[in-house]
Amino acid sequence: MHIVIFTGAGISAESGLKTFRGDHGLWEGYRVEDVATPEAWARNAELVQEFYNIRRRAILEAQPNEAHKAIALLEEKHQVTVITQNIDNLHERAGSTNIVHLHGLITKSQSSIDPTLIYDIDGWELKIGDLCEKQSQLRPHVVWFGEAVPMISIAIGICKQADLFIIVGTSLQVYPAASLVNYVPSTTKKILIDPAADQLNKNYEEIINVSAKACIGVPMLVKELLSS
Ligand code: NAD
Repeated sequence: MHIVIFTGAGISAESGLKTFRGDHGLWEGYRVEDVATPEAWARNAELVQEFYNIRRRAILEAQPNEAHKAIALLEEKHQVTVITQNIDNLHERAGSTNIVHLHGLITKSQSSIDPTLIYDIDGWELKIGDLCEKQSQLRPHVVWFGEAVPMISIAIGICKQADLFIIVGTSLQVYPAASLVNYVPSTTKKILIDPAADQLNKNYEEIINVSAKACIGVPMLVKELLSS
């Protein structure tokens, strides 16, 4: 069985990383337009760099939780693909081997003039003055609001092949990511694990709601899938 798991910020909440919309629409106290758009970078690259440096340091200090670990365990019995909106690396560190990062990965940098030039960042800090091989400023390897999502077509192809589709910890409000569920075959069982599942899922009647935190709901479901 090919299980596709689509995750959002909620799966990392119990690792101590704040979700995106938790706090009056602010992300860790910042307005998205000030830190996560190409316009913000053009206006104040220092602020953007500082915002992601703080996030990166927190992510490197965070640990994968029971939900990330349970998803990795599923590979013992099933073909598993994780499609994540998260820019953290907690799925990798929990042991999952097949991960699509729709919105990039904060532990990497990319050239600000050539997005195909991508590098590992050593440590938590990316500085103004750190340059790519074309002598251009390095920026975080993340997809900002208003930018194209290069991995979306690969993710769509994966969703079309899903025999079971599990959604964890996402408000399903950031597009095009949220549209992925529409590409999953109508005959495929779809499960949403999120404490707010009942409020989120009004547009998707065919999805089964599990109103639980990831660290409770995911290990329970994985146990069932490993024993069946
Ligand atoms: P979101 O903040 O819009 O939604 C988070 C969802 O998680 C909500 O539905 C909430 O009910 C749920 N949630 C909260 N605590 C939970 C828990 N313990 N277990 C399970 N679910 C829980 O997040 P989103 O839909 O992923 O969209 C936000 C965007 O911001 C993403 O595209 C992502 O790139 C970015 N982001 C990433 C991180 C990260 O990498 N960890 C963190 C914040 C934001």
